[in-house]
Amino acid sequence: MASATWICVECGARQTEAGRCSRCQAELLDGRLANVRELMADIDLRAALKRESSNRMIAVAVGILPVIVLWMVPGYWATRRELFAVPMLADQWALMIGIALVATKGLERYAGVAKRFPYLDDNQQLT
Ligand SMILES: [Zn+2]
Repeated sequence: MASATWICVECGARQTEAGRCSRCQAELLDGRLANVRELMADIDLRAALKRESSNRMIAVAVGILPVIVLWMVPGYWATRRELFAVPMLADQWALMIGIALVATKGLERYAGVAKRFPYLDDNQQLT
């Protein structure tokens, strides 16, 4: 694959010859140029950051919702008072944070974004 240096930044395809992408018809860029590889790394980084921030939002919601639902379960507050009388609802906060952390780990693992350019290594070199 060393000779497939023409890169489609739209879909991530690589080709051996210049011209248009055979998959999406976008103009191919020369992956031998450092600024093209920098652009590729930037595209993947932005996608990863965007996914990370949306995953964080989801994790917060996933942490809060079940705890609020628990609050509406009859007898929950009475039981809670008997089990742990923690001030400032610290136990409830801890529960939300705990669920959110687990959700974050799960999302990182199963809802990570696939790199568009998996063949670009950490030193921005084509592999
Ligand atoms: Zn393409």
